[in-house]
Amino acid sequence: MFNYPVEDAKLTSPFGRDVLNGRVRSHFGIDLAKSGAVNVKAAAAGVVSQSYRSDSYGEVVFVVHNLGGKTYETVYAHMRAGSRKVNVGASVKQGQVLGLMGNTGYSYGQHLHFELHAGRWNETKSNAVDPLKYLDKVAPASNASSHTIKSGDTLWDIAKAYGTSVKDLERLNPSVDAKALKIGAKLNVAKKADSYSGKKLVCKVAKLKFYSKPSWQQKDVAGHLTKGIGFPTVVRKLKVDDAYQYEIKNSKGATFYVTANGAYVDVK
Ligand SMILES: [Zn+2]
Repeated sequence: MFNYPVEDAKLTSPFGRDVLNGRVRSHFGIDLAKSGAVNVKAAAAGVVSQSYRSDSYGEVVFVVHNLGGKTYETVYAHMRAGSRKVNVGASVKQGQVLGLMGNTGYSYGQHLHFELHAGRWNETKSNAVDPLKYLDKVAPASNASSHTIKSGDTLWDIAKAYGTSVKDLERLNPSVDAKALKIGAKLNVAKKADSYSGKKLVCKVAKLKFYSKPSWQQKDVAGHLTKGIGFPTVVRKLKVDDAYQYEIKNSKGATFYVTANGAYVDVK
């Protein structure tokens, strides 16, 4: 029904919700990243309902779809400045180019933030659904590294060699039978960020930026954060509301991004 809005990109942040201090907090879409000039395409045929620039979404297009008698709305955010090709009211075909992937608005490197709503988009995003459950094909991770299986390889050895885990290898390669690895077959061995391990931050953190309406704020959180602390703990300590993506700088000035539920987002 819906196609991926970009081809051959890497999924850098999944759709997710978790409950923290009784509050549900969420990433209401998925992030797909790829470098270069990347066309952003309508996931299905529909009518453009919004096309504008905002501080958070950046250059963004919304498309309303009527599929099988049901209404859906898709959102394509952070597109390249000046690249939007469609105006409100325009009918678009599935696969029609809406603009170019970019880094406008609250964005931390070129990516597409894509939302799918079962029903119309609303302020609380209560209709947001996990796009991965609706998209017809899996986005190939073009910038993931791959490993060609050699005689005698085990998943454990491969995981160790690439700094990942057997569990992650199995998740990234669902069709692979760990007990009968095929020599010559390619495994996706996308590595985790070097300084981020599982659901724990392992770098010393100096600053945390968080989203708090109506604008981005920055708090110096040195002292709040210690080696190995989990992000839910940070969020509780800082009483951060509405936050869903965090920008972290470590002591060397490198920037890391994580979601509120502790999932790794991106490293620049
Ligand atoms: Zn996003």
